[in-house]
Amino acid sequence: EAKRQGRNDFAHFSPLLEQRSRERLQLRQDLERALENGEFLLHYQPLVDMQTGRIIGAEALIRWQDPQKGLRSPAEFIPFAEESGLILPIGEWVMEEAFRQAQRWASQGLDLRVSINLSTRQFQSPSLILKLESLLQECPLARRHLELEITESAAMLDPRASIRTMNLLKSLNLRIAIDDFGTGYSSLSYLKHVPADVIKIDQSFVRDLIDDPDDAAIVRTIIALARCLGCECLAEGIETAEHFEALREMGCDYGQGYWMSRPLALPAFEELLQRNPCFMPADQNPLAGLS
Ligand code: C2E
Ligand code: MG
Ligand code: MG
Ligand code: MG
Repeated sequence: EAKRQGRNDFAHFSPLLEQRSRERLQLRQDLERALENGEFLLHYQPLVDMQTGRIIGAEALIRWQDPQKGLRSPAEFIPFAEESGLILPIGEWVMEEAFRQAQRWASQGLDLRVSINLSTRQFQSPSLILKLESLLQECPLARRHLELEITESAAMLDPRASIRTMNLLKSLNLRIAIDDFGTGYSSLSYLKHVPADVIKIDQSFVRDLIDDPDDAAIVRTIIALARCLGCECLAEGIETAEHFEALREMGCDYGQGYWMSRPLALPAFEELLQRNPCFMPADQNPLAGLS
């Protein structure tokens, strides 16, 4: 019975599998074309100082301007790129673009942090450090501003190797952020050895912060932990003034989220910078109502 069922299942799923593998082949070809034709771009989402409400930098987030399908988000292609190894050339493009942008901003006298995401494979790649060294030669002003984000789960795949790599990154004087913190499985004794500059609190804890006392407790604890470890902390996914206010009261250093701004194309981000906005819920802003 089981055998027959198994055969049936196979017969049933086979066309689906076939379609899946056709789609994957197509995606691979499209991504290779995208690399060749320069179809990728970076969007920039403001990182905000929660005490002053000012923009202190941006997270660079990849987008794909697909001539057929329009603007595509990383969820549509980063997982496949990671699986297939295409993430290495794509990730190199991201690093080059972000370093050059950081160099341009620094040479205009702007003091902006530029944070980029490293995929697991990139982080584990033996050529990462050499690539960074050569980019730093090309973009010497970028060094003070660049931050590399590694997810907690990626760091935990090979904890000892991760610490070695992070120490090498620190020896280049680059900043390190632990991304999506709270969703991985790091232990306190491990964290003690992680040379991170920033801990980024995963947005899943921020979402229900106001209504769920457990999430609020977790966020408070992560903020306290960051402080004890001598790290800054940043909350992701701030979608409302209430989120902002609660996190500010908890002493969270930085924040990022739709309430302040979505990720923006470069011209829109620079326009926003020009306006030098102060993100602060109205009733907390000492200047509110004065002007
Ligand atoms: P991430 O690094 O955790 O980036 C934050 C994601 O949360 C971004 O999604 C951002 O648009 C989104 N976000 C920001 N504020 C809010 C908010 O208030 N509410 C909600 N619901 N979402 C918010 P995005 O740009 O779609 O990127 C998704 C993920 O794709 C990133 O998560 C990162 O893991 C990956 N990714 C993005 N760019 C790159 C890249 O250049 N290289 C690599 N390897 N991965 C990347
Ligand atoms: Mg990130
Ligand atoms: Mg994140
Ligand atoms: Mg995330």
